[in-house]
Amino acid sequence: MNYRKLGKTGLQVSEVGFGGIPLQRVSPAEAMQVVREALRLGINFFDSARGYTDSEEKLGRALQGFPRREVILATKSGEAGKEEMKRDIEISLRNFRTDYLDLYQLHNMRGEERVAQIFAPGGAWEGLQEARKEGKVRFVGITGHLPALLLELLKKESFDTVQFPFNTIEQEALPELLPYARQHDIGTIIMKPLAGGALCHPAAALKYLLRHDLSTVIPGMRSIAEVRENVAASGVALSEPEEKALQKEKDDLGARFCRRCDYCQPCPQGLDIPSLMTLQRYSERYGLHEWALERYRLQPAKASDCIECGECEEKCPYDLPIRDLLRACRDHFEG
Ligand code: SF4
Ligand code: SF4
Repeated sequence: MNYRKLGKTGLQVSEVGFGGIPLQRVSPAEAMQVVREALRLGINFFDSARGYTDSEEKLGRALQGFPRREVILATKSGEAGKEEMKRDIEISLRNFRTDYLDLYQLHNMRGEERVAQIFAPGGAWEGLQEARKEGKVRFVGITGHLPALLLELLKKESFDTVQFPFNTIEQEALPELLPYARQHDIGTIIMKPLAGGALCHPAAALKYLLRHDLSTVIPGMRSIAEVRENVAASGVALSEPEEKALQKEKDDLGARFCRRCDYCQPCPQGLDIPSLMTLQRYSERYGLHEWALERYRLQPAKASDCIECGECEEKCPYDLPIRDLLRACRDHFEG
């Protein structure tokens, strides 16, 4: 396993890190085996979130007994208020069975009002900074799917890391966000390196990413086989046949893959189009059907509320057939 510097934190992180989303789908015993295999193969960076149900807890249990200073624990909260953020940090500490977290991130920067609240007096950002002063959190970061917004925030506030999607299909962070983070020594954590499971050549997809100057890629893992496959990408060059396979996959998927850029919003019917599509992908690709269905049911507007006005398709920079995709989403969750 190769290790890289996580920006100004100075931490040396495994270039293949551990994404904690899929742990929700396995038993605590399976989680233990998966995490132990990751440790054995040199993974030292583990990322989770308060929003991933019992993922933090399972990681905490699996890491128990392993020297604390040899692992780098990262997690995040989507809370916008100061007290709520502080409460979430306490829960994360309990779940991870530790008295400090290496990295705590503001989760999923999205929505003007919510972002304003996070950085206003009494907001989550204040809570996070307090936790840092108290030694509960060593470093702070942001995560999200909107490169332009992340860039704007990096220019305004002092973050140690930024986490964003980057893969063969989602390249929106390449022109500006990644170079800016590099220039300012901000650690770059790549989420969705396999496009949320949409890419079928994981080793090649990871090798492709690792050619770039980034800190770590964090594919989600829920089996020992996945851990081994992902780790095997470290330190190995992408071959020509692999590059061709990736290109073909990109051509096939690119035309119907939602990059969660939000340009299609708002929808007059109140549909949160990127979230609906993401939930469907999680259900189909990560095997998180119940998890996704529960969240789908909580959506204020469902795919079936689409009146097919077509406004969103005019705004989508990727020319996605959103109405068709929403029909498929409706059939998947409501059919
Ligand atoms: S086509 Fe459907 S999803 Fe798109 S803007 Fe119209 S109602 Fe909303
Ligand atoms: S449907 Fe298109 S515009 Fe809407 S979030 Fe996805 S990629 Fe962006």
